[in-house]
Amino acid sequence: MPRVKNKIAIVTGGASGLGAAIARRLAEEGAKVIITDLQEEEGQRLAKAIGGNFIQQNVADEEQWEIVTRQVEDQYGGLDILVNNAGIIGSLDKLNPEGTTLSDWQTVQRINVEGVFLGCRAAIPIMRQSGGGSIINMSSIAASGPAPEYTAYGASKASVRHLTKSVAMHCAKEGSKIRCNSVHPGIILTPMNIHILEGRAKDRNITFDQALAEYKSVIPQGEFTEAEDVAHAVLFLASDEARHITGIKLFVDGGMAMGE
Ligand code: NAD
Repeated sequence: MPRVKNKIAIVTGGASGLGAAIARRLAEEGAKVIITDLQEEEGQRLAKAIGGNFIQQNVADEEQWEIVTRQVEDQYGGLDILVNNAGIIGSLDKLNPEGTTLSDWQTVQRINVEGVFLGCRAAIPIMRQSGGGSIINMSSIAASGPAPEYTAYGASKASVRHLTKSVAMHCAKEGSKIRCNSVHPGIILTPMNIHILEGRAKDRNITFDQALAEYKSVIPQGEFTEAEDVAHAVLFLASDEARHITGIKLFVDGGMAMGE
């Protein structure tokens, strides 16, 4: 029996990377998936391939959330799963606390935090009407592990964690059967991470392979997380198998956050 059969799911930032893997996995397990993203062409292509739908959306825009949720309600009659996955790391230059510009800080918070807040707020009333639902917010190991780099990003992912608990508690207390959990991936070799590694190699005058080996050495399991590993975790939280799980943080990181 497919694990999310006939459930209606929105995956933000679903045109590429982790979001695309999540959209594919949910569709494979029977969900009707609505991908939203800024990237129209890639989003349309994937939606077609998985028998889903695509809506162009900037998650940081309040009005666009109204349009997306109204369209999903009209077309599908409800919403069961929301994966707030869209996120950015910010400018790849000078990401430490002194180098981060106010404008970079604000851009990262707007997309990574306000985008998730707006998504949760828009989904709750529709899920309540549908008799419940599962909201999964994409955080990161960066929410807990302090690093001199990624100042704005780390703060944004820590905010996502706290917001997740607020939403989970609100929904649990009202008895609406809406669950909210956060997923915390480790290091996935996406283009963004490869770019960071190239920068490290250049700054420290080491080869790309040396920088890669250093990066890998901090992962207890000794291998990078794959997008599909994250998609499996999201699928579990989205499914009714997780009906009594709310407010948790689920690390998918090869053991990096084991001490947490
Ligand atoms: P990615 O850049 O490959 O994909 C992000 C997607 O979000 C893109 O398709 C992009 O177009 C979309 N997007 C960006 N801003 C948007 C906006 N304002 N509105 C709508 N869509 C927008 O990145 P990814 O690596 O797949 O990351 C996905 C999520 O996972 C992010 O929240 C990221 O912080 C988190 N994460 C990634 C890693 C990693 O190692 N890659 C680790 C931990 C957490």
